[in-house]
Amino acid sequence: MTEIITGVHQVDGVTANSFVVVEGDGSLILIDTGMSKDGKKILDYVQTTMSKKASDVKMIVLTHSHVDHVRGAFEIKRATGAKVAIHDEDADYLSQRKKVPVPKGGMGAVFKIIGPFFTFTPLEADQRLHENDKIGSLMVIHTPGHTPGSISLYSQDKKLIFVGDTIRYQKGEIEGPPKQFTPDMEQAMKSVQKISNFDFEILLSGHGEPLKSPDASKKVRQQFISVRSS
Ligand SMILES: [Zn+2]
Ligand SMILES: [Zn+2]
Repeated sequence: MTEIITGVHQVDGVTANSFVVVEGDGSLILIDTGMSKDGKKILDYVQTTMSKKASDVKMIVLTHSHVDHVRGAFEIKRATGAKVAIHDEDADYLSQRKKVPVPKGGMGAVFKIIGPFFTFTPLEADQRLHENDKIGSLMVIHTPGHTPGSISLYSQDKKLIFVGDTIRYQKGEIEGPPKQFTPDMEQAMKSVQKISNFDFEILLSGHGEPLKSPDASKKVRQQFISVRSS
């Protein structure tokens, strides 16, 4: 069991990190859902480890439409009856009315070949999110670049931010999004800067470990400045 702070869990062993937030009324918000096999893992975590009911999951929020974050959503929605929310600009990728933008150059070609192996069941968003929308205790911040509709979710009370793939914290290193999967790196770095202007002590990214530090936002700002000037 991984409870990062009271009321914020990270489900162990999911492809891309998946988090559960316990709201004041006991209902649950799930952030990202991993791959298909992770759907069951997440449901097990909620029901067994957290001793909650599947129906306590009221909301599934997807930080962006990449397969490693959304593929489990179909099964979890079916099992819980939760609503699925994603940013307006990624909703058509989730429903597959549009194809996810592919990075230019070599990786783009690779992406086209491996793409069919990363398909998922199309899912219609119940809620299309926009800047400053509230999902329970969380505020939506539009942080595009990695995908057009990438979002971060901010909790002012907990001084905590979920950043999806826009920032990664791995092996003690703060990094921007992976270049090979980020069609608009310039916009993504603007989003990194936008995130760094929020006041937070915990940063939770889609891959890697939690960054917990009283000056976490300062660390991100410093890292970003050193990236710019190097
Ligand atoms: Zn991604
Ligand atoms: Zn990812």
